[in-house]
Amino acid sequence: LAQQPLAPTAWLAGAPPAAERPHASHKGSYGDIAVVGGAPGMTGAALLAASAALHAGAGRVFVGLLDGGTLSVDTSQPELMFRPVEALELSAMTVVCGCGGGDAICAQLPRILSAAAAVVIDADAINVIANDTKLQTLLTERSQRGAATVLTPHPLEAARLLGTSAAQVQADRLAACGQLAERYHCTVVLKGSGTLMAAPGQTSVINPTGNARLATAGTGDVLAGLIGARLAGGLDAFEAACQAVYQHGLAADRWPPGRALTAGALSRLLLH
Ligand code: AMP
Ligand code: MG
Repeated sequence: LAQQPLAPTAWLAGAPPAAERPHASHKGSYGDIAVVGGAPGMTGAALLAASAALHAGAGRVFVGLLDGGTLSVDTSQPELMFRPVEALELSAMTVVCGCGGGDAICAQLPRILSAAAAVVIDADAINVIANDTKLQTLLTERSQRGAATVLTPHPLEAARLLGTSAAQVQADRLAACGQLAERYHCTVVLKGSGTLMAAPGQTSVINPTGNARLATAGTGDVLAGLIGARLAGGLDAFEAACQAVYQHGLAADRWPPGRALTAGALSRLLLH
């Protein structure tokens, strides 16, 4: 197997076909996504999330990098549209990932939390919020105006938000995930083996798909982009999170044994 070229369609053959798109639709029907991220040394995180959003069927994907650089095109993904982060239209669907913890993301988060109709917040941006009560207030206020919010912490990021340790989170993952959802009035995806989804007023869900092939750099960014695509496609926050986590894990379960899964390959296997 290792000698043969990969033929993803062969091992995806058993999957149900993706639903056909209505003829009378256009890219605007499938939503715009803004990805904010890519602090110095983490450009790849933003590009992976953007790639996942594209492959999951988003209509248009814009990227605002926080590294102060001048990347205007990703030649391997020319569909992505780069904008200075200050010029990004954030009113629709925004995915925040690969932000580092620096000044650049601290400056952007108030605008993002105030303006975006839907947000997915991953990684260091979660840590920034954990250390800033004003941002926590902006986060909790979002639910009052019906704005969708999904937080995607791994256990250490969840622990920082709860003011506890990763070991405590892992000792009762269900309780930790539910507490975060109640405290911040949003959908929470607690990542790791047996990923959990919780939201106020919803019965928490444990995801049955996924495996340790996902334990590699960038898969969390792919998940953030995929959740973004589902939100942009019109699902509510909890449903978007549950579907995305399931599909992300399913793609990993269908990966051929004996080959290392990379986050880039994972993003290209997502179905719209
Ligand atoms: P991150 O922690 O941000 O790097 O994201 C890693 C992604 O891979 C998350 O979606 C995790 O749930 C998933 N993942 C990592 N390790 C495992 C595992 N052992 N079993 C299932 N999923 C995993
Ligand atoms: Mg991560």
